[in-house]
Amino acid sequence: MKRVRLLVFNTALGVLDYRVPEAMAIEFGSVVIAPLGPRQVLGIVWEPERLSAQEVPESKLRPLLEALPVPPLPARLRRLIEWTADYYCAPLSSVARMALGSMAALRGGGTATEYRLTGQEPARLTPQRAAALDALQGEQASIRELAELAGVSEGVLRGMVGAGLLEPVTVDLDRPYPAARPGFAVPQLSEDQRAAAEIFVSAVRASSDGDGFAPFLLDGVTGSGKTECYFDAVAEALRLGRQVLVLLPEIALTENFLRRFEHRFGVPPVLWHSSLKSSERRRAWRSIVLGAAQVVVGARSALFLPYANLGLIVVDEAHEVSFKQDDGVRYNARDVAVIRAKFEGLPVILASATPALESMQLAEAGIYRKIALPDRFGGARLPEIHVVDLRKEVPERGRWLAPRLVEEMKARLERGEQSLLFLNRRGYAPLTLCRNCGYRFQCPNCTAWLVEHRFSRRLACHHCGHEVPVPDACPDCGTADCLVACGPGVERIADEVAEILPEARTALVTSDTMNHPEAIAEFVAMAESGAIDVIIGTQLVTKGYHFPELTLVGVIDADLGLEGGDLRAAERTYQQIAQVAGRAGRGAKPGEVLIQTRHPEAAVIAALANGDRDAFYTAETEARRDAGAPPFGRWAAIIVSSEDQTEALAAARAIGGTAPNLPDMLVLGPAPAPLSLLRGRHRFRLLINARRSAELQKTLRAWLDPLQFPRGVRVNIDIDPYSFV
Ligand code: ADP
Ligand code: ZN
Repeated sequence: MKRVRLLVFNTALGVLDYRVPEAMAIEFGSVVIAPLGPRQVLGIVWEPERLSAQEVPESKLRPLLEALPVPPLPARLRRLIEWTADYYCAPLSSVARMALGSMAALRGGGTATEYRLTGQEPARLTPQRAAALDALQGEQASIRELAELAGVSEGVLRGMVGAGLLEPVTVDLDRPYPAARPGFAVPQLSEDQRAAAEIFVSAVRASSDGDGFAPFLLDGVTGSGKTECYFDAVAEALRLGRQVLVLLPEIALTENFLRRFEHRFGVPPVLWHSSLKSSERRRAWRSIVLGAAQVVVGARSALFLPYANLGLIVVDEAHEVSFKQDDGVRYNARDVAVIRAKFEGLPVILASATPALESMQLAEAGIYRKIALPDRFGGARLPEIHVVDLRKEVPERGRWLAPRLVEEMKARLERGEQSLLFLNRRGYAPLTLCRNCGYRFQCPNCTAWLVEHRFSRRLACHHCGHEVPVPDACPDCGTADCLVACGPGVERIADEVAEILPEARTALVTSDTMNHPEAIAEFVAMAESGAIDVIIGTQLVTKGYHFPELTLVGVIDADLGLEGGDLRAAERTYQQIAQVAGRAGRGAKPGEVLIQTRHPEAAVIAALANGDRDAFYTAETEARRDAGAPPFGRWAAIIVSSEDQTEALAAARAIGGTAPNLPDMLVLGPAPAPLSLLRGRHRFRLLINARRSAELQKTLRAWLDPLQFPRGVRVNIDIDPYSFV
């Protein structure tokens, strides 16, 4: 190649053409450094006909500076990047960025320097050094990461290096990961499991020529052993020397997965998520692109990495909404995983006990092959589900647990079994007000109440992170000791449990308490060993865990999720309660679930109580069909925001005023978004409901691209939105 076109990572720059110096070996997909004025930019060599740009005459081309020592991004990945940018109306460069590692990783492997405590204990210490000494016990990371961990400046830590309190350690970034062994500990599969596993294994084999796209929906009840089934397919890929990507919805679940993986394959998998240390990230990225990483387990960001030799993709808990990214590139990792498998000619397994309606529909239509595991493994039965009508079985004043739930918890405690209480609300109380004047604590940056957190003694906004200490007096009327907590959060339920069952050992499981891997590992170990009697948690405890002694699940407020009234409210409620119910009775002892509700007649609650999943899916499918909602029709959202309310409204009106008038597309709004103020930005929203026949993305681009807005206005397009706030 003599001349190349680059995709660069600054959308304002667009696309740039360069000359290739004589000795430089360049292919499509090569990652290069190019000059731009006095600066240097990173770019990917792209097929010129796929990136429109102004032709630059030969004589004006500047030469590339350097080709980075990494394999070129494969053509199939480049096509996936283009598809994603096109489908989600996102800049190509933002999508491509997700495939690349850090600059350091692109520059090559080699070594990195990290620091750790030397163990020296000086006689006198500044308070900052003392704090750092305390916080950094057992840690090893870069100075920047340690500074963040310890909450001190990098300067303080550099001083400590000088004083001999911290020492440098050289980390080899190219040291290989230990090899996973497909036959390390092979379980005896049940008949159903074996049948499923055999199908997956043959699909992995059949894809070895890169032409084996095979999407599966592994639809197995909670506790059916879905993991063991797809582990067989992982083992086959390992035998064939191919890489596997397992996507999990949350980092919190990886801890559990890691241990199971290690148990089965003898070594842990390679991790990829946003809280890896920079050296771990570099090491993982390089081993992924060079083909040395065998099995990568990650959050959705692992999806776009340039695997050298991918052979299988698994999306576990595939129904989870957290696969949808709601900032930056607004993509759904579950859906893009299937597209990647299609481009690469691979099998992809979507595993869930409560598949998304969209996935069910694709299975019905014969596009996904559905593999069912209708029974729990080892003869365990699904739990019995009972409804507690809160209008008739009223909790005591100021309490939230109905007498029947309390009785059942007492019985479990006496028998040495575990209970789990589920309420999807962090903190102590969702609303705090003044008893005297009615003042309500509200976030100054968001349309949201501040949530009281008793442990940290603060009022916090769950949207922007704004926090204030709980004041002694009302800020409005000045009355002292007048604040009342309204409604329950998990902390308040934990208080109630402590009052009712003072001898019970409890664990509170929320993102506030389980904010690092060690905390999660410790919780899981304690719960498994029976050192916890009552677990109280948010959605974090609803999935993945397997505690054999857990025989009672109490859902504190089944109506909570239905109140928001968004498109998927019923489905989400069904999934959440079915998943948390699925934690009960997974061992030898039968499980029981009590669902507290004020609407026992609601279709979702009735379906849960009767264990009639089909009835729920059928009813929900019809409702969606009538509403032209996904998967029968499509939605898109346009969110217009600015710090200036007038400016945001004017921009939203300008968009609304130029809306195309098409028979297969309905434009609603603009209207203030339910969260009309978020992180200090005023938000307006337009919703588009389109028939499947509509050319949604094309129409959106033709509509929005010509419009110009003031600098402070942001216009975000959300295709197939999950969040309607
Ligand atoms: P699911 O993900 O379908 O809810 P899991 O894969 O977590 O189910 O399996 C539930 C439990 O049963 C796990 O502890 C798992 O190790 C165990 N299990 C499943 N299948 C087998 C098997 N064939 N042999 C031994 N243990 C199994
Ligand atoms: Zn806020």
